[in-house]
Amino acid sequence: MQHHQLVILGSGPAGYTAAIYAGRAGLSPVLYEGLQPGGQLTTTTEVENYPGFAEGIDANELMDAMRQQAVRFGADIRQAAAVRSDLSARPYHLWFDDSSELTCDALIIATGATAKYLGLADEDKYRGSGVSACATCDGFFYRNKTVAVVGGGDTACEEATYLAGLAAKVYLIVRKPFLRASQIMQERVLANTKIDVLFEHNTEGLYGTDGVEGAHVVHRKGEADERHYDLPIDGFFLAIGHKPNSDVFKPWVQTDATGYIITEGSSPRTGLPGVYAAGDVADPHYRQAIVAAGSGAKAAIEAEKYLGTLAGK
Ligand code: NDP
Repeated sequence: MQHHQLVILGSGPAGYTAAIYAGRAGLSPVLYEGLQPGGQLTTTTEVENYPGFAEGIDANELMDAMRQQAVRFGADIRQAAAVRSDLSARPYHLWFDDSSELTCDALIIATGATAKYLGLADEDKYRGSGVSACATCDGFFYRNKTVAVVGGGDTACEEATYLAGLAAKVYLIVRKPFLRASQIMQERVLANTKIDVLFEHNTEGLYGTDGVEGAHVVHRKGEADERHYDLPIDGFFLAIGHKPNSDVFKPWVQTDATGYIITEGSSPRTGLPGVYAAGDVADPHYRQAIVAAGSGAKAAIEAEKYLGTLAGK
């Protein structure tokens, strides 16, 4: 079986930055890209808040550049996702979805987070034919059509604003009587004449013979004036938060109730020697590319120190 000193799982800003730092430190990192090469950022378009790009940068371009930088410093990048781990003792053992397995001395978990769905049977029924959790991936298909976005956070507002640039009409379905998003995002949404915010609304199902043609919604569920009606739409976009991709490691590392890996203070240390968590898988608060990149750098620096101690340096 192959053995490596450092394995990095994940190819978002955290994973690639860890690979750049580890590569420059001569650690010959092996990086597994996981299920979504380039990570969540590749599901957005323009990144305007990553420092160094005064005019913004295309998200895929940014991730490609990070990947190339990692390769330049010797990262061995592989296309597979971890499906099982045994971190009970070093060397740590990992199994992948291409049937390969390996052991390693140090591990950086940078597996990110995945979009959540409401849990309606109709979401599965219409996935790919009207249901999506990524406006920037699928918005193109709804040019001049009517769509709904579910959620009241920054993601929902961002997606609704993006879709309003393409679609004829956007409904933002919000379960509370207010938005949770930051002030600036709220203002953008409320000022957009193409967006109608449906406060105190929930979705109970979807309908349509050949893809989504509408949503069964309810206004003020459980109240005296509860009202059920059908909202004609062509696309239904989920933007209700994310689930951290930590299941594979849960037997070994501590997680919070949502599944975010708990690290020591502001460090990426998990409590297991040589095992670090970086990026969104360990970040319920900030979830920004720049923060993920920073934590990837920290994890690589920690791994370098740890491997140096192991080698008796
Ligand atoms: P949030 O957790 O902030 O918001 C989730 C939203 O979905 C809430 O409005 C929530 O409603 C709603 N929701 C959750 N479950 C359901 C459900 N079952 N039915 C209906 N509605 C539901 O997630 P986001 O992804 O929006 O943001 C996560 C983090 O990332 C935040 O810290 C955010 O600020 C940040 N972010 C920053 C961006 C930026 O700065 N450009 C862009 C995107 C995200 P309720 O309020 O009722 O709980």
